[in-house]
Amino acid sequence: MKHFFTFSETVQQLAEKAETRAKPYFEQIEKNTEYNQQKVLSAFIHNRIDEACFGATTGYGYSDRGREALDKVVAESFGAEDALIRHSFSCGTHTLGTALFGVLRPGDTMLSVTGRPYDTICPVIGIAGEKGQGSLADFGIHYKQVDLTGEGKLDLDGIQDALRADPTVRLVYFQRSRGYTLRPSLSAEEIGRAAEAVKKVSDAVVMVDNCYGEFVQTVEPTETGADLIAGSLIKNPGGGIAPCGGYIAGKKEWIEQCAYRMTVPGLGREVGASLGNNRELFMGFFNAPHVTGEALKTAVFAAALFEQMGFSPTPAVDEPRRDIIQALRLQNPENLIAFCRGIQSGSPVDSFVTPEPWDMPGYPCQVIMAAGAFTMGSSIELSADAPLREPYAVWMQGGLNYHSAKVGILRAAEEVLKRQSRT
Ligand SMILES: *Cc1c(COP(=O)(O)O)cnc(C)c1O
Repeated sequence: MKHFFTFSETVQQLAEKAETRAKPYFEQIEKNTEYNQQKVLSAFIHNRIDEACFGATTGYGYSDRGREALDKVVAESFGAEDALIRHSFSCGTHTLGTALFGVLRPGDTMLSVTGRPYDTICPVIGIAGEKGQGSLADFGIHYKQVDLTGEGKLDLDGIQDALRADPTVRLVYFQRSRGYTLRPSLSAEEIGRAAEAVKKVSDAVVMVDNCYGEFVQTVEPTETGADLIAGSLIKNPGGGIAPCGGYIAGKKEWIEQCAYRMTVPGLGREVGASLGNNRELFMGFFNAPHVTGEALKTAVFAAALFEQMGFSPTPAVDEPRRDIIQALRLQNPENLIAFCRGIQSGSPVDSFVTPEPWDMPGYPCQVIMAAGAFTMGSSIELSADAPLREPYAVWMQGGLNYHSAKVGILRAAEEVLKRQSRT
């Protein structure tokens, strides 16, 4: 057999040990994948998906059969009453923003219970300093937050106190994924217990930023007590095939409000030409459980490999997974750069480019990124980001298939080892 890639003896030995260590966790991931794949397949069958669903509509897009059927498939797969999945959501932030504006009205308060939300959500709320862009704050919608505890857990007493103290809270907001922090991500069950605590003292809508969490567990937050979830199609639920878009799923009443915000009052979900995107959205959603499983295996392998090399992975190899993100503390900026260059060189697209740290707008320090993806910015494809500052961690995620992503991880390991042997 031909060796398409050559790795040093050291990396080969480390890789073998890492894969042995990862094996029991791979088995668990594959069990979840099988369950989730059957869940999605059965939703396709119940909803009688056929070739006509892949047809394109133009103009108003009235009665787009595929668009309507895909909404039903997504709702059923996420154990929700209803859903909206559209290529016309520009990104995750646009989708989450649509849901927030869909539910909240002037005088209401949004209560975030997982601390400060993901960076791009802050200007939507109006807490990033911008004025006059039409944020929630510009429309007289207030914002409050309850921080996570020191261990990164939900503060159930703090949440109930905040709700009792303020009857204007209309929406309680959870972020499931760690984003680019080192806190643990939340499980659907933890969110469910908190939703129950919320419902005891308030009738506020429980909304979850579900980005990076879809199909990681066998239940979604909509099945454990959330009223609304939303996420991006260039992450897990697009299966690496959807070219762009987002989804919102949850209670019928709130999905309808989101639909009026997604287009306009009066028209809601009745309009929106699919322009031939239905097939890729169907195919991507169908593949999503499997692709998410491959991304999880890639994350566990990377954790095991870098643990062998003496670095500390978060989550650890044996920690349960709540999203597809793997953080690795690499101790210094040079290792971060070496890691990202290795990942890039093992990517199917743009393998020949050299990532450089740059002054990314909105960041107080330089950031380096690696991404060699078929879809620009896709983070269900193997990718990595690292701000060049303490704790010198790289956040990596994705991998459309484990066998290919493994090469990227091994190249990253090789680069880091090479750099260390030079010093
Ligand atoms: C990706 C992500 C978003 C949305 O980001 P976009 O770049 O707009 O798709 C929001 N929250 C979290 C936790 C995310 O990971």
